[in-house]
Amino acid sequence: MRLINSFKFIVDNNVGKLAKWLRIMGYDTLFFNGRNDSRMIATALAEGRVILTRDTQIMKRRVVTSGRLKAILIKSDKPELQLHQVTDTLNLDSQFKPFTLCLECNQSLLKRSKQQVKDLVPPYVFQTQSQYMECPACHRIYWRGTHWQAMTKKLKNFIKG
Ligand SMILES: [Zn+2]
Repeated sequence: MRLINSFKFIVDNNVGKLAKWLRIMGYDTLFFNGRNDSRMIATALAEGRVILTRDTQIMKRRVVTSGRLKAILIKSDKPELQLHQVTDTLNLDSQFKPFTLCLECNQSLLKRSKQQVKDLVPPYVFQTQSQYMECPACHRIYWRGTHWQAMTKKLKNFIKG
């Protein structure tokens, strides 16, 4: 049996690209766009999220040093190395829940039938794809097309390092 670690994350704006990659893998990842560290810490505690940051000050907070709140200090400024650090540290699975979260708003995607998306996707997509998902927040339609496949391939390469 494979052990699956089901972490949730909050990333601050100096590691923003990480959020998208974690969402591609299916990990619930909030993007924190404010400057108020205390608010980010409060959200992380309330929702059980691991903080990903390049801010050494956050790492010195008592709530982090005491181990009450898990935070990872991201070392690199390159997104692929950042992702590698996080997946390696927490033993994340690139195939955790692929294709389940909106990459823009972190909402759970909803299944849509082919007929439901008929007028919402390009004709060539409609002809070749049978599975569709919709974000309930931004109404973006997702399908496992070439773009998605390219991203997941890149993701696997990142993780392999
Ligand atoms: Zn969305």
